[in-house]
Amino acid sequence: MRLSRRPAQPLPVQVRPVGGETVVSYVFRLADANSFTRPTMLLRAVGEPIATNIHAGIIEHHDITLNAPALARLAALTGRPLASLAITLPSLGTARVDRRLASTTEPLINAFSSSAIRGHCQQCIARIPDQPDIRVHRQSAPAICPRHHRWVDTTRQHPHQLDLANNIEIITAHRRFQRLPSTRDDPTRARQQLCRTTEIVTHWHHHRHRFADSIFTQLHARWDTRARTLPTPGSATPLLVLPEAVALAEILCDPRWLRHVAMADHDDLLPFYQQVAQRLGQPTQFSDHLAYTHQIDPLQSWVIEHRKQFRTLRNRHRLLRARNPYNPRFPNTNPTARHIFGDTQRLLRTPESTWRDAGKEPSALPLRTRPGTLVGRFGHSDVSGAPGG
Ligand SMILES: [Zn+2]
Repeated sequence: MRLSRRPAQPLPVQVRPVGGETVVSYVFRLADANSFTRPTMLLRAVGEPIATNIHAGIIEHHDITLNAPALARLAALTGRPLASLAITLPSLGTARVDRRLASTTEPLINAFSSSAIRGHCQQCIARIPDQPDIRVHRQSAPAICPRHHRWVDTTRQHPHQLDLANNIEIITAHRRFQRLPSTRDDPTRARQQLCRTTEIVTHWHHHRHRFADSIFTQLHARWDTRARTLPTPGSATPLLVLPEAVALAEILCDPRWLRHVAMADHDDLLPFYQQVAQRLGQPTQFSDHLAYTHQIDPLQSWVIEHRKQFRTLRNRHRLLRARNPYNPRFPNTNPTARHIFGDTQRLLRTPESTWRDAGKEPSALPLRTRPGTLVGRFGHSDVSGAPGG
């Protein structure tokens, strides 16, 4: 009889899953704790593999997808509610769609490989009996162990964990990022922004020869000093530039600056670059260079991409502003305050009671921005095709 067809009972010895851990790592630890001769036996007890690629070596860079009956068996074997497991084991919370796992009666699993699987903090592991090999998903586990102040976000290029006890600057930056409201509300997007800002700052770091006389000199001096405080200087550039990457990510996660960059006229972007310079502790020349340089700069590329997404909306608002200049007596009629989250319908309903009373669709009516003043139809036909910077 297949292991996956035997009744699933809670195992006698339970272990606690680690945040961000792979299901394979967790199941293998459970198997070890319960003296299974081979850890893959417990995996097969959870569900029947639909491919024959299940072996002990998959712990390194594989995790598994489970169908509903297999999930139920995992919950039964671990004695933990599925909802609680899904919080700790990320591949349960974001299950991949796999038609081969469609069965609603037979428990099935399938292994998938991921380059984003890495080791857990070695000092945390050293505190656990038998020092198990714990593997986690990079996106769901902290890059710096909060308990041991070790950088653990290793990659093939940077395979060694680093002790950051002497580098409070990097630890503080990491904490600041985790406390960002965006990190709590939309962690995936915040992480994407941090990846982008890390690329931008790493680019500035790598291309120092291009800026020999330059406004990046102060930053390079700072990075050189910081590199000397790391155990292996220069071994992990993303870590070295983390404080600057986080400072930039704080701006790129701030809705007010996102809105400004999206909607301001091209000539009004300087305040954004000034904010960047200020947060990075750089002089005015730094912001001037970023704002007016003709060289390809990665921050400018981000600005161009971001503005491109809102070009149509920006052009509409520009047209509206031209017809109806901002009036401080009616601040709510200023459209730039409301654009960013696709709230154009609310904008079009101003003043709301007028359209409600008329019982008509706001988009079918001429836009009225203050009582008694019609400023014309606000529709696609009015939008000029001029690019917006
Ligand atoms: Zn640790």
